[in-house]
Amino acid sequence: MLEIKNLTKSFGNNTAVKNVSFTFDRPMMVGIIGASGAGKSTLLRMINRLADVTSGVISYDGIEVSKLNGKQRRNWQSDCAMIFQQFNLVPRMDVVSNVLHGTLNKRSTLATLFNLYSKDDILRAIEILDRLGVSAHASKRAEALSGGQQQRVAIARALMQDPKIILADEPIASLDPMNAQIVMDTLRQIHDQDNRMVIANLHTLDTARRYCDRIIGMRQGAVVFDGTPDQLTTEAAREIYGADNSFSEAATSTEIREPAMPVMANAVPA
Ligand code: ADP
Repeated sequence: MLEIKNLTKSFGNNTAVKNVSFTFDRPMMVGIIGASGAGKSTLLRMINRLADVTSGVISYDGIEVSKLNGKQRRNWQSDCAMIFQQFNLVPRMDVVSNVLHGTLNKRSTLATLFNLYSKDDILRAIEILDRLGVSAHASKRAEALSGGQQQRVAIARALMQDPKIILADEPIASLDPMNAQIVMDTLRQIHDQDNRMVIANLHTLDTARRYCDRIIGMRQGAVVFDGTPDQLTTEAAREIYGADNSFSEAATSTEIREPAMPVMANAVPA
């Protein structure tokens, strides 16, 4: 499936990602952890081709995506939807239109210019919002929603692309514990129910351990851990974070504390 080989990204003299290699041979839920500046975000941005690689190869089902250009590159970006810490919605636009933006890559320039959406697309957008428990807010401006609701709208926009992979760059870093849990539960259920690969940069160990099948630890651009949550011992975590404050912060964070709640039903608190 997704194979990363000797991937490197340099910004001038600064090597943000150093010779990173790993393979995912089936859709799984992957957590990438590491201190701030470890290269997590640059890695995700290269996978989705928002950033070009300096050297190395990214391939998916045998296609070298690190070399794609033009339309093929845009198609890959559509297969590989991204979710950001700050949600990146259009704040003054209504929720359903924000979700419909997820079809941009697949629409003609004319349809895009005049904001023309098919009835099927609109119904699908509402269906996805419903699945994520936020359809009651479909006609509100995005900025009127709470952070957790906005992140679920951003996930709905990503699902509208029907992506093979969801890349989430610190998806819960701006959320309170309850909303952080709802968003992580949502990502996990999308993985479980749709069999989509989810790769999330996470800044706490607890969250990665609790939600991910595989954890990749980065330090100063390099992969220093690649294994299951069980294999992530305190010693391994120290290797990832160093024995400084960022380790104790990451290890002791109580970002998500409550037991899991259902999220794919309309029973979610709106
Ligand atoms: P993380 O996501 O783990 O916090 P980043 O991938 O954001 O780490 O950053 C890794 C390194 O690359 C840092 O030293 C950062 O300053 C540098 N970096 C990231 N993006 C850019 C950029 N666009 N231009 C220059 N340096 C960058």
